[in-house]
Amino acid sequence: MGDGKESVVLFPFMGQGHIIPFLALALHIEQTNSTDCAIYFVNTPLNVRKLKSSLPPNSSIRFLEIPFSSITHGLPPASENADTLPYHLVMRLFQASASLEFKSSFMEAIHNLTIHNHGRPPLCIISDIFLGWTATLAKELGVYHAIFSGAGGFGLACYYSLWFDLPHRKVSTDEFSLPDFEEASIVLHRTQLPANIAEADGEDDWSIFHRENLSAWVDSDWLLFNTVEEFDQIGLSYFRRKFPGAIVRPIGPLVLELKSRDRIGNTTGEVTREAILKWLDSKPSNSVLYVSFGSMNTISASQMMQLGKALEGSGKNFIWVVRPPIGVDINSEFKAEEWLPEGFEERNKASGRGLLVQKWAPQVEILSHRAASAFLSHCGWNSVMESLSQGVPMLGWALAGEQFFNVKFLEEEVGACVEVGRGKQSEVKSEDIERKIKWVMEETEKGKEMRRNAEKVKEIIDKAWKHGDGSSVKSVHDFLTAAKQLIV
Ligand code: UDP
Repeated sequence: MGDGKESVVLFPFMGQGHIIPFLALALHIEQTNSTDCAIYFVNTPLNVRKLKSSLPPNSSIRFLEIPFSSITHGLPPASENADTLPYHLVMRLFQASASLEFKSSFMEAIHNLTIHNHGRPPLCIISDIFLGWTATLAKELGVYHAIFSGAGGFGLACYYSLWFDLPHRKVSTDEFSLPDFEEASIVLHRTQLPANIAEADGEDDWSIFHRENLSAWVDSDWLLFNTVEEFDQIGLSYFRRKFPGAIVRPIGPLVLELKSRDRIGNTTGEVTREAILKWLDSKPSNSVLYVSFGSMNTISASQMMQLGKALEGSGKNFIWVVRPPIGVDINSEFKAEEWLPEGFEERNKASGRGLLVQKWAPQVEILSHRAASAFLSHCGWNSVMESLSQGVPMLGWALAGEQFFNVKFLEEEVGACVEVGRGKQSEVKSEDIERKIKWVMEETEKGKEMRRNAEKVKEIIDKAWKHGDGSSVKSVHDFLTAAKQLIV
């Protein structure tokens, strides 16, 4: 600390799906650092430890640790990341992240950074959508601030519109519209609501958290999104209307391509990255279906059984990142004989057709391999961006948060996705999943159209990242320049 450079502070929420795009942003700023700033990444000690080991050895990114006692917040010992928590405890992590104790620790970290920087406060703070209070704090300190959303514009607009308005509580029908999101004429079905929104009554913990959090966004100077303008305009216009005082700009997709990124994940599986890539090398081009439900979610045992049957029935090559089903501790032993069709693992090993990877796989490398054909995904936004930036069409199975709206957007607006499942408890049928896998991966009209649409998005993305005049590259640069001008 204290080398007199301007400092850019990045602060993601404690969950892999949040940390990953922030890390990608930090590395992007580092690589294109025309303003020669020092980059500080803020998080809790356990997350920082993991992150340190995942950075390239020559990286100049520095870390600021916020002390965190999980036990004080009613969490199990050493729980600092949403990925290691069962769903019913996740709210406590959210509450901890908005607690007075946490806020003052962050404040102290900024204060110390300022002292070490000869009294010069940070150039800017870029923080997570769930850490809205940092905007208020930055305003008080006179520091330039941006909220950076790892989620896309459309999905997040639906999500926040629902939290603010709870329109489903005002009607008795299964289908309802989102009057607050007037830029889109959306009709949602109750089954497309994440559990916490479906159960919200305006006074529950989630409603209170989101209301307070989103209200604080008005104090932010910029809202940055991990998306691309041409592709996600409707969602971005929602935020432009809601936050007229802020500059809303897409800066995506920020895809983290670190070879060592799997170290950030919960790698315990016996199938190594090298083995996965070698397996892919042995397969024909466009022949492999990649199946993964992100860093936090898993499906039920009966859904796993149906998915297993569908994968075998489809006759396609596949890589499936498996985790114990809902209700079973994520760290417990994987019992293929209980949760998958009888003999599934052995048959697929013997035929070489399917690869089961436990917990964590090098996703970006898999999706960018020439053998990848389609991605069956929960449609978390990082996964969406990673897939479409390779022109890989998707089979959507949303499980939580704004994923339901991402699937809707990708299927109805973009045409690069087909829905195969909805939620963690819904009944899914292997024949239905199998049929859709074939649609997408074979030479059907639907498959061809989806591939064409995914390819179109890839072109939009490539353009946004073109050095020189790419819109996303330019937005990051413009934000840093605006922050600089403020203090000159
Ligand atoms: N990821 C990965 N390997 C895995 C599972 C996830 O590399 O086995 C990465 C994935 O590439 C993405 C992130 O973890 O960058 C997951 O983010 P996403 O928004 O898709 O979903 P979330 O985990 O937040 O639900």
